[in-house]
Amino acid sequence: MDCVFCRIARGEVQARTVLQDEHLIAFDDIHPAAPVHVLIVPRKHLANLSAAREEDALLLGRMLLAARDVARARGIEEPGYRVVMNAGEHGGQEVFHCHLHVLGGRPLGRILPAR
Ligand code: AMP
Ligand code: ZN
Repeated sequence: MDCVFCRIARGEVQARTVLQDEHLIAFDDIHPAAPVHVLIVPRKHLANLSAAREEDALLLGRMLLAARDVARARGIEEPGYRVVMNAGEHGGQEVFHCHLHVLGGRPLGRILPAR
């Protein structure tokens, strides 16, 4: 399949890997939006969250725990970080293989309006 994240997961496209196991791979974003910007990518091709089914619940949980592990490995657990998943056109999704962004290393500001 001609999907760049599937190709990274198969080792056909180079990426700077942070961690990997049989379920997922985490690597540095090629255009970092913060000093730490790592993508958590399941080896299984799912276009985005909308394509996820009940049987993917464990995989989605593993992605969140991998985000925690990446934050720990990159030393940003404290003072903190942000985990983002874009879905679809209005969500700003560019690569249609489900992934989490882990962002940190600078204050990220609020993304929701302050009350
Ligand atoms: P999204 O908008 O959530 O689909 O984000 C896709 C992200 O993938 C962007 O931040 C891109 O910079 C990143 N990206 C695209 N191609 C590559 C690649 N070959 N290696 C690493 N990151 C990539
Ligand atoms: Zn894919």
